[in-house]
Amino acid sequence: MPPVSQAGALRLSVNCFALGGPGVDGILIDSGGGGWAPTTGRLEQTLAEASIDPASITVLALTHAHQDHVCGLLTPDDRVLFPNLKTIAIAEEAVKSFLGETHLARFRSLLKPVRTGDQLAERLRAVALPGHAPGHTGYAFDTDEDRFLFFGDIVHMPALQFGNPALSWGYDDDQPIARTTRLNVFHDAAEAGTWIAGAHLGRPGIGRVMRKGEAYGYEPA
Ligand SMILES: [Zn+2]
Repeated sequence: MPPVSQAGALRLSVNCFALGGPGVDGILIDSGGGGWAPTTGRLEQTLAEASIDPASITVLALTHAHQDHVCGLLTPDDRVLFPNLKTIAIAEEAVKSFLGETHLARFRSLLKPVRTGDQLAERLRAVALPGHAPGHTGYAFDTDEDRFLFFGDIVHMPALQFGNPALSWGYDDDQPIARTTRLNVFHDAAEAGTWIAGAHLGRPGIGRVMRKGEAYGYEPA
């Protein structure tokens, strides 16, 4: 795991997730930061490394509309990264902040509001995970063997928040609700052995949470 801090600054990873397989080909969960920060905007390269053609992405499922999740729709030099995108799934409550990013207004016609329980594909459904941001939503994906929860911003600092799950992030809109959501997600995922995948879980961004006394541990995949 990378160090929690470097030169006194906290390190924040930014991940997004491409699904593959029957029924879920072409679905991307979150788009990363694009030109949001000098160290983000590497999605085009990382997709190429994974041999995924951006033209194959047709559905973007957003966990929420913060800039480090939505701005990757455009490359840092302002090109549209996904020319064949048909749908941007987004919670109704997050639409306003999405459209507040005026450079993303060109995607307005693709927005498709989702609510908890909605199926995006046969084995992929939206799950409300309130507290961090308006309409913060996870996506639960079941295969024959495994369950996954793409949980957006339930965790920002994995090195701190599994061992102390009550620890809040300053940018959680409603910290008590975000804390309750985090505790519930950890509890349920640990009980069920669900794989968790998060935007800020470091690398590879997916792993398992397990009970450790009063707190939790995290094992990256
Ligand atoms: Zn966020």
